[in-house]
Amino acid sequence: MSSKNDHMLPLGLLLQRESTNEKIDKPEILHGQASQIKKGEDFTMFKTECQRIPGDGTTTFSVFGLFDGHNGSAAAIYSKENLLNNVLSAIPSDISREEWLAALPRAMVAGFIKTDKDFQEQAISSGTTVTFVIIDRWVITVASVGDSCCILESAEGTIYSLSADHRLEENEEERDRITASGGEVGRLNMVGGAEIGPLRVWPGGLCLSRSIGDRDVGEFIVPIPYVKQVKLSSGGGRLIISSDGVWDALTPEMATSCCRGLPPDCAADQIVKEAIQPKGIRDDTTCMVIDILPLDKVTPPNPPPKKQGKGVFKSMFRKRGTESSTSCDKDFELDVVEEIFEEGSAVLAERFDTQYPLCNLFKLFMCAVCQVEMKPGEGISVHAGSSLPGKLRPWDGPFLCPSCQAKKEAMEGKKALGDGAARHSSASE
Ligand SMILES: [Zn+2]
Repeated sequence: MSSKNDHMLPLGLLLQRESTNEKIDKPEILHGQASQIKKGEDFTMFKTECQRIPGDGTTTFSVFGLFDGHNGSAAAIYSKENLLNNVLSAIPSDISREEWLAALPRAMVAGFIKTDKDFQEQAISSGTTVTFVIIDRWVITVASVGDSCCILESAEGTIYSLSADHRLEENEEERDRITASGGEVGRLNMVGGAEIGPLRVWPGGLCLSRSIGDRDVGEFIVPIPYVKQVKLSSGGGRLIISSDGVWDALTPEMATSCCRGLPPDCAADQIVKEAIQPKGIRDDTTCMVIDILPLDKVTPPNPPPKKQGKGVFKSMFRKRGTESSTSCDKDFELDVVEEIFEEGSAVLAERFDTQYPLCNLFKLFMCAVCQVEMKPGEGISVHAGSSLPGKLRPWDGPFLCPSCQAKKEAMEGKKALGDGAARHSSASE
């Protein structure tokens, strides 16, 4: 369709086209939530009108969070109040939208660690799972620690997992990491030697391998989140974030199908009802439902047509860059969820890779975790002590301040535990 005269279009028309596209390209985001409370340790947050560039309404993004606390609600409340700021302050200013999106996964890692570190300084023994979602137009970025999982159902009805399950019972890699860091993994010992319940880490008896807080359990219960970033097709999709009370009772297929066609608030209600119905309320059970809809489709979607592959819990995505994806192909790529980023390593040096596309934009003498300014020579490379021979040099950034370096070493099990008395009798959920 290109003609020789394309470059002759007046600027005003081009700008008009751009702003029209902007409107079309931005989805409507509707959300609802429901919960049944037993202990009062579940907390949620949402902010639908955040602005990447303050004052610029075209740069809005939405934030959703679910915090399922244990041993009290202090860690959940603290994370709800501070995590977003800690994530956003780890993103350099004056960058484009594309760079901002590329910076998000690393900023989420920094923000989770800073929130955990600051909370632990308050010397409160509580902990929390965190599932934290940022939606910028069609791009969804999810960072999670713990077992409050997040799933996505695309417009065509395919279900994707956007979070990891950090329950020790389900995650052998994490069990190995904790054992290697000096933790003990086992079941609850009853009098007489019988072992019951899920695998837990001792001391403390926590069932999770990652969380924010939990200073008494050990630093190897790290706050480093699994992060996944995907791009929806312009057909949109539905996100479901729930605490473990839902996922213990419902499969992702059950959760999506029991509320299909309902608006988000009714959908969340329905999911919680379905989860509780068989056994009653055993734990706090919270669900958030977020619909990401094309503007011409703001009424809730009808049941999507059944397609091949529906009902299969997919973890496969089309990788970005594997195929040509010029704008001409757009019409043929409807209903394809594109995976942009996925990383779950608990090793900080791997999450703050030197290959990071924006490394040069970060100020050299600023701690990559807490953003404190450092004097030249004061920072310690995140790669210091790395065992990767020849690949990385200790003078390569990014750099950590001495306090965040100590936190890094503690998370890697290089610090002796403080009060390491085994407390097999006081298991926490
Ligand atoms: Zn620092």
